[in-house]
Amino acid sequence: MDFKPYIRTIPDYPKKGIQFRDVTTLFGNPRAFRAAVDALVQPYAGVRIDKIAGIEARGFILGGAVAHQLSTGFVPVRKKGKLPYKTIHEEYDLEYGKDQVEIHVDAVKPGEHVVVVDDLIATGGTAFAAIKLLERAGAKVVGCLFVIDLPELGGADKIRALGKEVTTLVE
Ligand code: 5GP
Repeated sequence: MDFKPYIRTIPDYPKKGIQFRDVTTLFGNPRAFRAAVDALVQPYAGVRIDKIAGIEARGFILGGAVAHQLSTGFVPVRKKGKLPYKTIHEEYDLEYGKDQVEIHVDAVKPGEHVVVVDDLIATGGTAFAAIKLLERAGAKVVGCLFVIDLPELGGADKIRALGKEVTTLVE
């Protein structure tokens, strides 16, 4: 399926000069949402995966569906200050300033095989921080899934250079 027609582009959001790729239109279409989840899980059919780690917030929507389909557990990778129990965090650079992602200290067990899920990869900073965090906690991150890749920003190549498999549906 060609997913592009289901993704809406919002000019100048969240600030002037940014073309925001809005996946709520894809999520809202029954056929497109199902087909996207089916395509994302395909490389991991029959492969050992213990947990899906979804990145807040759109990675929760996709990651929950992917985890259900692969019969794995789910780990929320959250923005700073949202998780109730003891956490570990990783910082990453934004265009201006820094941000943090967090997981619970016991979110993964050492040696568990984890796949990271988000809606879009741009510079790869967010996914890179999520991978570092999960691996610090002892997981083996085997790959990453995204609906959209912005290849000119180099994020997917940066993650592949770590030896991780990267699956994307649309450029
Ligand atoms: P990166 O860290 O790879 O530069 O940025 C990716 C993160 O920012 C992802 O969590 C993604 O959800 C969000 N993001 C950045 N730009 C867009 C966009 O145009 N559309 C959507 N849906 N998310 C974006």
